[in-house]
Amino acid sequence: MEGDAESQAAVLPAQKKSSLLPWMIGGVACLLILLGIASAIAVTIFKADMDVVDTATICPDGHHLAEFWTPDPSYFCNVCGDPQRRGAHMFGCRKCNWDKCEKCATSP
Ligand SMILES: [Zn+2]
Ligand SMILES: [Zn+2]
Repeated sequence: MEGDAESQAAVLPAQKKSSLLPWMIGGVACLLILLGIASAIAVTIFKADMDVVDTATICPDGHHLAEFWTPDPSYFCNVCGDPQRRGAHMFGCRKCNWDKCEKCATSP
C-alpha cells in the first residue's frame, strides 16, 4: 500500500506539470490574440494617418500621383481646370490620365 501511495505521489507532480501545458498554450494564444488586436489597432491608426497625408497626392480613384513637369502646353489641371504652360510642375495619375497642378496639390 505504501508503495502505491508513493507511486501516486510521484505521478501527481507529473500530472500537474502536464496540466500546465494547456494553460501555457492558452496563455500564449491569449497573448497572440492581444498582440493581433493591438497591431490591428496600430495599423488602423497608422492607416488613418497615412490617408490624411495621402489625400493631397492621390487621384479620385486612389492611385498615387507621380510628380512631373509638363513636356508640352497641352496639359490642364483636373481640379481647378487651369491650362498649364510647358514645364509646369504637376502631379498626375497616368492610369486615369488625371492631373493636378502644383497650386491644387499644395493647397488643402
Ligand atoms: Zn489646379
Ligand atoms: Zn488614378
